[in-house]
Amino acid sequence: MPAMPTPPLAPQPLLLIEAVEAVYQHAIIALHGVSLSLQAGEIHALLGANGAGKSTTLKAVSNLLPVQRGQITAGRILYQGVDVARTSPAALVRLGLVQVLEGRHCFRNLTVEENLLTGGLGRSSSRTELTHDLERIYSLFPRLKERRRIHAGLTSGGEQQMTAIGRALMSRPKLLVLDEPSMGLAPLIVQDIFGQLKRLNQEEGLSILVAEQNSAVALQYADRVTVLDTGIAVLSGTAQEIRQRADIQSFYFGQTVAA
Ligand code: ATP
Repeated sequence: MPAMPTPPLAPQPLLLIEAVEAVYQHAIIALHGVSLSLQAGEIHALLGANGAGKSTTLKAVSNLLPVQRGQITAGRILYQGVDVARTSPAALVRLGLVQVLEGRHCFRNLTVEENLLTGGLGRSSSRTELTHDLERIYSLFPRLKERRRIHAGLTSGGEQQMTAIGRALMSRPKLLVLDEPSMGLAPLIVQDIFGQLKRLNQEEGLSILVAEQNSAVALQYADRVTVLDTGIAVLSGTAQEIRQRADIQSFYFGQTVAA
């Protein structure tokens, strides 16, 4: 009997969040069975209002919940097949899962360039490699080159966000996780930052998971979208589908963006 052709295997997601429940201080339930799947090369936006559970999801992904007296109580998160809850945040960074926390954390008393270089410290890179990576960051964000000798604490909000992202890029991520990069920034700066992230995604295949309250900008740049509401994933789909559905946008985001 001729062998049956085997159906093609579905590609393994880079990040799989399966029915995750997360709790703070053993009492405050922040996530109720959240699921999400991100394929390599995708930009996935996690949308939702204040307190919806976006930051909790991202911290769970990087195994940072225990630092905040939080934990995953059900479900699991796999990054490249690895259970993140059993892997230290530092080991996850070495595996290419790198997070830029909410609030553009920079070392205020270090210069912009010193901040960027701290991102390369965990790698055993040669000076030539570090210089090459620095130049790559400066080509993405030329303002950082102009400001490289200034203390990060003296630079603008947009420059600090670019520095925080640049530092994360210095550790050569496969999956970059960003928590509300647009927060408090002028629209032109937000477009610049998202434009450069999209460029990295398209030119180098960088995968991105980004939490945003700014649904308009996220829908413009993302491939897929998951909407959270009080710790529940209430909607998931391609950004293109959602861009074409004014009803969904006004229901969930209170505004619409052009398809
Ligand atoms: P925001 O945009 O305000 O950051 P979010 O969508 O990221 O909102 P989370 O910060 O994940 O939401 O919050 C989800 C829920 O968990 C909220 O009810 C919040 O009060 C609670 N929460 C968040 N962090 C903690 C913490 N460290 N301890 C206790 N509860 C927390």
